[in-house]
Amino acid sequence: MTRETAAAMAAALADGTTTSVALTQAHLDRIAAVDGAVHAFLHVDAEGALAAAARSDERRAEGAVASPLDGVPIAVKDVLATEGLPTTCGSRILEGWIPPYDATVVTRLRAAGLPILGKTNMDEFAMGSSTEHSAYGPTHNPWDLDRIPGGSGGGSAAAVAAFEAPLALGTDTGGSIRQPGAVTGTVGVKPTYGGVSRYGLVAMANSLDQVGPVTRTVLDSALLHELIGGHDPRDSTSVDAPLPDLVGAARRGAEGDMSGVRIGVITELGGDGWQPGVMARFQESLDLLVAAGAEVVEVSCPSFVHALATYYLIMPCEASSNLAKFDAMRYGLRVLPEGVDSPSAEDVMRATRDAGFGDEVKRRIILGTYALSSGYYDAYYGKAQKVRTLIQRDFDAAFGKVDVLVSPTAPTTAFRLGEKLDDPLAMYLNDLATIPANLAGVPGISVPSGLADEDGLPAGFQVLAPALADDRLYRVGAALEAGLTEKWGGPLLAQAPDLSGES
Ligand code: GLN
Repeated sequence: MTRETAAAMAAALADGTTTSVALTQAHLDRIAAVDGAVHAFLHVDAEGALAAAARSDERRAEGAVASPLDGVPIAVKDVLATEGLPTTCGSRILEGWIPPYDATVVTRLRAAGLPILGKTNMDEFAMGSSTEHSAYGPTHNPWDLDRIPGGSGGGSAAAVAAFEAPLALGTDTGGSIRQPGAVTGTVGVKPTYGGVSRYGLVAMANSLDQVGPVTRTVLDSALLHELIGGHDPRDSTSVDAPLPDLVGAARRGAEGDMSGVRIGVITELGGDGWQPGVMARFQESLDLLVAAGAEVVEVSCPSFVHALATYYLIMPCEASSNLAKFDAMRYGLRVLPEGVDSPSAEDVMRATRDAGFGDEVKRRIILGTYALSSGYYDAYYGKAQKVRTLIQRDFDAAFGKVDVLVSPTAPTTAFRLGEKLDDPLAMYLNDLATIPANLAGVPGISVPSGLADEDGLPAGFQVLAPALADDRLYRVGAALEAGLTEKWGGPLLAQAPDLSGES
């Protein structure tokens, strides 16, 4: 049962072939069997999930089903506040913190009847591309346990790839939903900025963060996106506009007719320096869309070459400000400095932040504080904001010519654990293709494009659409998925190692 899609699980619940309690228990059993090896979860809430499942079964018996996914279990990235459940953001500084409230997206999951299996591992405060910056140890890629599952949301992607959860929530500030999706053979969506509430999402960089679906199919993402999306008065950046018909777009896309769709291949994202096997799967995917009737042209977005530098100024600036609230007084950890008789509040703060934050977090706080300091503000933060506008203009110009833009999601397949840990710049380069969307607020999806010839590991195909046109991601993504699944004779994840017996 755990190998089905969420849509198929929902159908089995609807026709009475299974119950939510059975389905939830099956996933808890799978977690018990493989998570020792994968380490996708930081916290599993068996009791809470089974209680929610029992309530779902009662509702169904009474004919009062709450949503199309009522009873289908889900995993939640540990950066989203969950009432009564630990929320650590992968950091020691929040060890033991139990939020007194739910993030809006979690409230919506509960209202829609999805049992929450637990909280997934992540790079500390969502800073990283490999989940190795988690204070609680790395997550392993289900395709090859010696490799990274991507990051920062490696836990959510690995849980879905390893059949521990059919659905998960992730967050994407510079690629943390899409890049883990690419390297684990799963689907990940970063919605339009403002399209999904950020209330209760522990912020890394407010102007870039978005919550989104992590699933095994494009349709499953659309189903989940419709549940969590839409206006939230508790988030001042939430867009007060109805969501487009995402599920309808996914269903229409799966029929495979792409005629009239104009696709722009971004010149700056791909080519030399990108892993040949990743480029080969990308080209094949494009050919498939052309065969389905799409028109493909190349589009240059010249400012994208500055996206990484721009992001690594704006993001640390916002992060340094956001992380100031972890002051040993309000949340989680409090460390008393050794050998100080009556420590001041500042002594306690210093000792706590020193012990509670990891190296990558400290690096970004220092970078951000420096870039925001008087005398450097205009040269760094101010300049980065101007380049951000240029990147937004590149998108505007491109979307004047085409309906969607495409690129490989990440330059390489999953690298080995430890390979880039001591080289921050090499780590940052993984997000070359995903970051422009966050800087401009536009939505993006990563769909599995196949296995690279060199290493037999998954690669991803990224589709980007104009703000508020998230439906286009689902239409093109579903068309690609349908074509590739037919070509492979089944879903890509059917080829992943089984893992039972690994723990
Ligand atoms: N890998 C990028 C970073 O380290 C993006 C992270 C994210 O999207 N949360 O900042």
